[in-house]
Amino acid sequence: MKPEALLHPTPAGLFCPLGKFHVDPVRPVERALITHGHSDHARAGHGKVLATRQTLDIMALRYGEDFTRSEQAAEWGEVIDVDGVSVHFHPAGHVLGSAQIAIERDGLRIVVSGDYKRGVDPTCAPFQPVPCDVFITEATFGLPVFHHPDPKAETRKLLASIRQFPERTHLVGAYSLGKAQRVIRLIRDCGYDKTIFIHGALAKLCDYYVSQGIELGELRPATIEKKDPSAFHGAIVVGPPSAFQDRWARRFNEPLISFASGWMMVRQRAKQGGVELPLVISDHCDWPELLETIREISPQEVWVTHGREEALVRWCELQGLPAKPLHLVGYEDEGD
Ligand SMILES: [Zn+2]
Repeated sequence: MKPEALLHPTPAGLFCPLGKFHVDPVRPVERALITHGHSDHARAGHGKVLATRQTLDIMALRYGEDFTRSEQAAEWGEVIDVDGVSVHFHPAGHVLGSAQIAIERDGLRIVVSGDYKRGVDPTCAPFQPVPCDVFITEATFGLPVFHHPDPKAETRKLLASIRQFPERTHLVGAYSLGKAQRVIRLIRDCGYDKTIFIHGALAKLCDYYVSQGIELGELRPATIEKKDPSAFHGAIVVGPPSAFQDRWARRFNEPLISFASGWMMVRQRAKQGGVELPLVISDHCDWPELLETIREISPQEVWVTHGREEALVRWCELQGLPAKPLHLVGYEDEGD
């Protein structure tokens, strides 16, 4: 069987005609397999959804319990038969519950990695390399220029800034699923044990992470109390980046805007967003991690999606490894 007969791109996303399912479809479909809860991968309105328990929980938190007619939870490594096609889920190391999905029939195995990273992250299960014939990799940071620094060293920049500007409220922008909890965990691991204040948009997901055993320390809502505006002097407030563009942010004392994202590598992006303290903390592979992963898995073929497809395809070809871009549309990562 040619790999394309098992899985191929369609306008709704990757489709497996034998199993009659889509992976991370961008439109409502009858049966969806979902890699993780970011909104560009996990959408509401599918007939049936197969995903990890944590991804299903996260979808219910974000879209409501009725996000699908029928859900099925996949355990790590459990082989599930979907209309004669075997599928199994393995950790992707991207956010809580994030999975790679292996799709197998007649001895041919394709692994859809979804979004993934290789760096240490105590807020989710670490990426597990799965041997396969075709490896589908993301390429969000798929250019040789992208090297992500040590996330703890980045976090220590924030703590140094608080010591330097003890009167200023440090507003840290972080996407609400995954990045926010990882940043809070990093701040704790760097020795900061004071209360961290969070924007209301993060509350449900932070509570969920804690319920799954991810310690985040003392969190309180970042509600300004008129009685004591000084409460936030020198405090850390974590919120979705969009919140810092509106009036909400201006209520704090001399706010210092920070933003945790892989894109903070690109100085111009930080400048445009008015970010005073960019923190390069990414939940995706950088260029060396992409290459390391492809070498380690050593597939027969690589399909590249999400982001800078051409550079990685070219690199594979130079290694004598067949590769092609998938040109899927609709994936603008929510949690870079
Ligand atoms: Zn993602």
